[in-house]
Amino acid sequence: MSSFALNESLVAAFQQVAGEENVVTRKEEIEKISKDFYWYSPILTRQLKDKRGDIGVKIGNLETLMRVVSLCCRHKVPLQVRGAGTGNYGQVIPLHGGVVLDLGKMNRLLSLDEENGVARAEPGIRLSTIETKALKSGWELRCLPSTWVKSSLGGFLCGGSAGIGSITYGGLDNKDNIKSVTLLTIEEEPRLIRFQERDCIKALHTYGSTGILVEAEMRLGKKVPYEQHVFVSGDWDRLTEWSYAVACNESLRKREIAQFEWPIPSYFLPLRKYMPVEHHGMFLLVDEAQSGQVIAEAAGFGIRHTHTLPFKEPPRPPYLTDYTWNHTTLWAIKKDSSYTYLQLGMAENFTEQLRALSAKYPGEIFHHLEYTKGYTKMRVVDYEILCFNLPLVKYRNEARLREMMEFCQEIGISSANPHSYFLEEGGGHEDIDEKHRLKKITDPLGILNPGKMKSYQINPFANSKA
Ligand SMILES: Cc1cc2nc3c(=O)[nH]c(=O)nc-3n(C[C@H](O)[C@H](O)[C@H](O)COP(=O)(O)OP(=O)(O)OC[C@H]3O[C@@H](n4cnc5c(N)ncnc54)[C@H](O)[C@@H]3O)c2cc1C
Repeated sequence: MSSFALNESLVAAFQQVAGEENVVTRKEEIEKISKDFYWYSPILTRQLKDKRGDIGVKIGNLETLMRVVSLCCRHKVPLQVRGAGTGNYGQVIPLHGGVVLDLGKMNRLLSLDEENGVARAEPGIRLSTIETKALKSGWELRCLPSTWVKSSLGGFLCGGSAGIGSITYGGLDNKDNIKSVTLLTIEEEPRLIRFQERDCIKALHTYGSTGILVEAEMRLGKKVPYEQHVFVSGDWDRLTEWSYAVACNESLRKREIAQFEWPIPSYFLPLRKYMPVEHHGMFLLVDEAQSGQVIAEAAGFGIRHTHTLPFKEPPRPPYLTDYTWNHTTLWAIKKDSSYTYLQLGMAENFTEQLRALSAKYPGEIFHHLEYTKGYTKMRVVDYEILCFNLPLVKYRNEARLREMMEFCQEIGISSANPHSYFLEEGGGHEDIDEKHRLKKITDPLGILNPGKMKSYQINPFANSKA
């Protein structure tokens, strides 16, 4: 149920501004563009399944976008931006109806600085397009989600956080990964605001609620021809010890290290012949020139190497990254819909913490580790290897999930709750006050993705039933 009235004259106004062919009014299509992968969470599924926009508008350029924003402000129409819709906390789902803005046609790579390795692009561009073009010039994306083939630049910067590459470069908000972002304010006369270097961070991972990102500059890494490897072991602790050693080995040029507790590898159906029964798995992307050394070291540790996929340019599947990060969860849910997941930031004593979780919830929690570098939000120096756990959890009920997160907290594990659509609960935002101040500047009317930032009081739709 929408909390504002969409009438025919408003539809006509959107058609006039954006072109009739760019305005979506068919119910099925609106339903589709209003949703993301929120159904990973049984709690979000219950809360959000009936929510949708009232109208979709496809935007191809900044000028049209500004006119549409202005129209929304004049008529107090809620609006939310959509990239590829692969977010998984309902970030893209309108809580109060209104306009879903599809920026998929604002997808130009504006420049690629081949000397310094900087890509400047519009928000709707796919990350895979940037990656392919960067490789041709001797560069690669520093950090990309496992949905990189489909997901958009704007969606990753505003909805994502870390991923493939983070073992070397950290998350989006680490180091100098993002050079600049340009936001469009949600005002009758929209303005452009550009943030540079670490000042950008407050505009990242805000669930599209602090202005519309219309351009960004990303720093690239030097291209490495990565080979993709599968390793297995029947001994979880041994595998963890080795994976961590690989993660900490600065001399290895690597892009991804993921580790999966049995039975998770059994859900990777296309890879089954490389994943023996009752064995845990580890996937590694490492410079092809260093593969031999790593395989030999693994053997010395008693870890078996079962499969290699060569580097290909331009990139072509199969990708082992299709089984990492939140893809792992997807493979498991496809096989057994009683699974859901958690997102846990493990502490230095993570091996003890893993044991404590397994002992407390036997048969209910299965670990999926992702190693990253310096993922802590505000840290700018002294990067260290961190262990991030996205365990699969057999879902019983909401109270049990809450209890698990409380237990995690008790033993020093932090949680980014993936069962909440509130920004404040979905990540450890040490800079939430700054994000709040930014929203005040970029969205004074409170009509941009209203309701996602819990601490922001201006929401003209809050009293109407969402
Ligand atoms: C299988 C699977 C694996 C995943 N793996 C990862 C991973 O490795 N790392 C990770 O970080 N995430 C991951 N995610 C989450 C998600 O895929 C990524 O964050 C992705 O980059 C989002 O891009 P998108 O274009 O699909 O964004 P969308 O889902 O369309 O949008 C995400 C958010 O960004 C906002 N937004 C989009 N464009 C703009 C814009 N131009 N201006 C302002 N706001 C905007 C939206 O309103 C929404 O709140 C995964 C999800 C799934 C389902």
